[in-house]
Amino acid sequence: MKNDCLFCAIAAGEIPSNKIYEDDQCLAFYDIAPQAPVHFLVIPKAHIASVAAIDGGNSGVVSHLFEVIAATAKKLGLESYRVVSNIGEQAGQSVLHLHFHVLSGRDMTWPPG
Ligand code: 5GP
Ligand code: ZN
Repeated sequence: MKNDCLFCAIAAGEIPSNKIYEDDQCLAFYDIAPQAPVHFLVIPKAHIASVAAIDGGNSGVVSHLFEVIAATAKKLGLESYRVVSNIGEQAGQSVLHLHFHVLSGRDMTWPPG
């Protein structure tokens, strides 16, 4: 756990979240400022700063995160959804702990803004 990391604190249960799914490796919870009718985040419990910090030593959890995304979307009955991860300030990353946004329930535009 990294000190002063919001999502490490959420993963540890120190800050409450509206959880959808949890296991020993990851957590899925609703975004506090939803950008679509359904908007949740899937994070590893171990601190990884962003997609840019994924390497051979920590990538095992990433396939698990995508399994959880697929299973959670199915559980919520989502037929169409978008998975997004912002890397760095210009792309809009505001929390420096790896997370995948899952957005659903409205028409999406392409390319994203
Ligand atoms: P980013 O901007 O890094 O791509 O995504 C961070 C996301 O975390 C944002 O969508 C923001 O609304 C969400 N967020 C920030 N603080 C909290 C919080 O305390 N609880 C929850 N559930 N989501 C948060
Ligand atoms: Zn963290």
